[in-house]
Amino acid sequence: MIRRTKELSDDILLMNVSAKGRTAHPDLAIASALPNDVQVSFEFFPPKTEKATESLWNSIQRLAPLNPSYVSVTYGAGGTTRERTHNTVARIRKETNLEPAAHLTCVGADQGEVLDVARQYWDAGIRHIVALRGDPPHGAEKYTPHPGGFAYASDLVSGLKSIADFEISVAAYPETHPEAKSPEADLDNLKRKIDAGATEAITQYFTDIDIFLRYLERARAAGITIPIIPGILPVTQFKRFVEFSNRSGTSVSKWMFELFEGLDDDPVSRQLVAASVAAEQCRALHANGVNQFHFYTMNRADLCYAICHILGVRAQTDD
Ligand code: FAD
Repeated sequence: MIRRTKELSDDILLMNVSAKGRTAHPDLAIASALPNDVQVSFEFFPPKTEKATESLWNSIQRLAPLNPSYVSVTYGAGGTTRERTHNTVARIRKETNLEPAAHLTCVGADQGEVLDVARQYWDAGIRHIVALRGDPPHGAEKYTPHPGGFAYASDLVSGLKSIADFEISVAAYPETHPEAKSPEADLDNLKRKIDAGATEAITQYFTDIDIFLRYLERARAAGITIPIIPGILPVTQFKRFVEFSNRSGTSVSKWMFELFEGLDDDPVSRQLVAASVAAEQCRALHANGVNQFHFYTMNRADLCYAICHILGVRAQTDD
């Protein structure tokens, strides 16, 4: 159950998060309640150490009462976390009421091996897969399909559908995937993934909400009707955020540099600013008709919990 936030004040206007100087709208008052219609999902990565496992598990337990649609667990670049991803997803299935989704990629394994992993998921009661091509392993400059492997995510989606009726999410790129020939070719690729059986797309994160809204408009104009859920990455360390964005072809708006300036050694202020930015992004998206959000949690609960709280997503209680 998602509870409505208390009506506090309609006077405080949402700060403008757009680089284009969009005027704040009274409906976006930061303290006013959203209409109890926000759905969230959370993404985690599989932990490497015992300490990291404990910390992940604390995060999952903190976020679980927010009643996410599902929680997903990534698959390491180059397919390096096969076992850890499986163990984490299986533990979520076994020990919580959450709906787990396992990320699966085409990298580093032939088709039979990938489908064996998928069958193990099905047998463990996992019904939701986030199907991806995957990035090349560390050190490899460009992606080359594994001999006998699935070449692209659309091929993986077809393969998965051929063995079981999984619910399948796929990736989408508001700023176009860096290897795509053109934005149109990239949308064609999303269509191929949908034709193969994907029922939902989760986007790469972005900093300016106009980028997402324009993409959504183009996708709808191209006849794509499945939910396209914005991926929201709250900033934890701004320098790393910028480095990662450069690598993944995500632009970082000028206002972000200005907002995080001088906060490198001030984690507390940085966290407050990060929560505020992400909450405003979500509220501005909501004002434009978007009510589902996928959070890249980086295995930390506090930021996402606070953002959800602002969005009116509250812990479910028994009363
Ligand atoms: P695809 O949809 O296969 O597209 C890859 C590129 O190939 C695109 O440029 C596309 O336009 C092009 N293309 C597709 N088909 C063809 C064709 N037939 N001919 C020519 N070009 C074609 N990576 C991981 O390793 N593990 C994860 O857990 C993971 N989780 C992610 C979750 C989300 C929500 C997102 C957005 C990304 C995630 N990634 C993950 C990163 C992802 O693997 C990379 O972005 C990867 O480079 C592309 O994956 P894809 O599934 O989008 O690939």
